Amino acid sequence: MKRLAILGSTGSIGTQALDVVAAHPTLFEVEVLSAHSNAALLIEQAHQFQPNAVVVTDPKKYDEVKRALSALPIKVFSGADALNEVVQWEAVDMVLAAIVGFAGLHSTLAAIDAGKPIALANKETLVVAGDIVMQRAAEKNVPIIPVDSEHSAIFQCLVGETAESIDKIILTASGGPFLGRKTNFLVNVKAMHALQHPNWTMGAKITIDSATLMNKGLEMIEAKWLFGLKNEQIDVIIHPESIAHSFVQFIDGSLKAQLGLPDMKLPIQYALAFPQRISNTHKRFDFKDFQTLKFEAPDYKTFRNLAIAKDAMFKGGNMACVMNAANEEVVHAFLQNQIGFLSMSDIIEEVIQKVAFINTPTLQEYIASDAQAREQAQELIKTNSYKH
Ligand code: NDP
Ligand code: MG
Repeated sequence: MKRLAILGSTGSIGTQALDVVAAHPTLFEVEVLSAHSNAALLIEQAHQFQPNAVVVTDPKKYDEVKRALSALPIKVFSGADALNEVVQWEAVDMVLAAIVGFAGLHSTLAAIDAGKPIALANKETLVVAGDIVMQRAAEKNVPIIPVDSEHSAIFQCLVGETAESIDKIILTASGGPFLGRKTNFLVNVKAMHALQHPNWTMGAKITIDSATLMNKGLEMIEAKWLFGLKNEQIDVIIHPESIAHSFVQFIDGSLKAQLGLPDMKLPIQYALAFPQRISNTHKRFDFKDFQTLKFEAPDYKTFRNLAIAKDAMFKGGNMACVMNAANEEVVHAFLQNQIGFLSMSDIIEEVIQKVAFINTPTLQEYIASDAQAREQAQELIKTNSYKH
């Protein structure tokens, strides 16, 4: 029985992880659940899964959750610091990091410091401070098992292989809802259009990142740190059907891929059960439903965020951290209809120019770079010169 702390349990990944837990009651038990402000769903989940503790990081929601769970033997905590404590508990065997954005960094680091294996959905953690996260994990001998479907695919392809045998990895990207579109179309795109992803149902932030291809840029950086790759070893290919979840090419020219229907429950289950592979009743891929699978080169010119992220990966230092912070701010502003689709790339580019480069940042410097980038991005959003 693995006892889980599920951070971000009310999100897209969190709720699907709880579906996996519910389907395998003899394998998994919930020790901790966390949400930011969705008190109603957190309360419902607590009733169903009877964890030892819940954390609602938004302090305004504490009373509501505390009151609703007062008849149950469930501890209720509030505030972001509480996350860092509960993940360290003796009774936690694994932490699923499924909080969105930079907000997930500290609790993931706290879990690593306590020696807890991590099922990592929160890709921003590695984009912001991948060198520090992976170094701490190595020092503590903590496995970091990817949940992101592409990285889960690569991880599965690498079982039984050595790092030296990898030539390169090829991340697949669906291309999002605007695949094939050009700038003259994108200029008029609104949040409601960008939130319609063709293959995946996900949280709002990653859905916008998928429409701009920033998601694939973040995933390149995530892959670099997770698998210890050189920048040149990471490639992206558009694959609109999202059936091949990524490829590894080996030094002898062999290509391995992991295939399946687009369903996050599979990589979630793989990470939670690792090193075991367990059965399920998910719908199976059928070749008759997909007589062709398409692959094409990404359009770096139209989807500038992919080029910006690749560039940040090559520059190294705090660049990816700065880019990530600016991206979180512009995505938030775009979702509020404050800026246009193309302005997101304009603002990120400008913020990258404005924040000083640091070659080998400390954790404190990463945190400071994140704050500076957010401030600059908010300033640019406010000036409102980015209408398109
Ligand atoms: P959602 O927006 O659906 O869920 C985010 C979760 O984090 C919610 O539980 C939310 O709580 C919580 N949360 C939000 N802000 C904070 C905060 N400041 N402090 C603490 N908790 C917070 O996101 P997803 O589930 O889509 O994504 C989660 C992570 O997984 C992201 O990093 C994403 O990139 C990654 N990922 C997601 C995939 C997917 O299919 N969804 C696929 C691959 C990776 P509340 O509900 O109360 O707001
Ligand atoms: Mg992915």
